[in-house]
Amino acid sequence: MCFLGMCLLVLPAMSQELLPIKKENSCSYYGEEIADDVYGFASSNEAEDAVSEIVDAVGLQKNFVIKAGNVPNAVATMQNGKRLIIYSQDFMVKLKQKTGTKWAAYGILAHEIGHHLNAHTLEDGGSKPPLELAADQFSGFILGKMGATLEQAQSAINAKASARGSSTHPPRSARLEAVAVGWNKAREQAGHSGNSMDPTSSTQPSPPKPDPVDQAGEKLGELEELIDAYSSGKDNSRGNTSGSTTFITVGYSGDQYGCYLPISINIGGAYFSPEGNKYTVSNIPAGQQQYVIQGTISCGIYGSCTAYGEGTIYVQPGATYWIVWQNTSVGYCSIGLQSGN
Ligand SMILES: [Zn+2]
Repeated sequence: MCFLGMCLLVLPAMSQELLPIKKENSCSYYGEEIADDVYGFASSNEAEDAVSEIVDAVGLQKNFVIKAGNVPNAVATMQNGKRLIIYSQDFMVKLKQKTGTKWAAYGILAHEIGHHLNAHTLEDGGSKPPLELAADQFSGFILGKMGATLEQAQSAINAKASARGSSTHPPRSARLEAVAVGWNKAREQAGHSGNSMDPTSSTQPSPPKPDPVDQAGEKLGELEELIDAYSSGKDNSRGNTSGSTTFITVGYSGDQYGCYLPISINIGGAYFSPEGNKYTVSNIPAGQQQYVIQGTISCGIYGSCTAYGEGTIYVQPGATYWIVWQNTSVGYCSIGLQSGN
């Protein structure tokens, strides 16, 4: 399609196209070589649905395009500065047959999505073990949120990952551990153990709650409702006595270091991603609320970290809250909200 650097940009719908991706800027799930010429095809509805489910599970904005293509399994890569995920339809079908579950394919897609949502650049010699472990942890977290068992969340790695690892990919044992850490975080956040968030049952309307006073005391009932509202991630009204919502402003200091924060914040079940510093957002449930923040903090030459934090804040109408963070280990930060003016 290209002649002396001039390319035909308009392609007929549904046709394949040669993708000008750089192999060295790509993560392949098991670390395999990628073909010199990668052709992209329109993605299947099934893959699109899987990606929507994964992205919805954390309430983040999709910042990438997904295509089917002749790659070994799935890759996260850049194409002309755009974030792209290419997956092999053939591999996904065979993986589902081999493992007998959809979760292995979901685990691979969630891992690749994790690279993009965590703003991994995948530059300079491809991926690196710390980035891979962060993406594995993200994948475990997502599958945990979606109701997979730990075994299901680890099925993609158990199916094929190298026991010894490579220069780009960590050994299998480390990857399994990273998935377990992420999965456990999701279970802790949901406030219960076991597989009670099985997607086959979570689509059913939940039965009416018994009056908390009739149960083991009012406090316990309140706590359960909070946990429910939190784990459902959608319902803003439960778990807050007034049921009212308000607007707040969230800011951070760090502009002088050129920081930007591609993060997702969940306050009492209301999700948002700040689009810049001193960001005002409405429809936040008022009163005492639990919050979760996750994503990346990027401060230019000062480096970046994968950030995660949770806590409680008292949401007052129109108040300002500060995002504060702290390095906990190389590439990782804890992050939280503080009330202020
Ligand atoms: Zn990866």
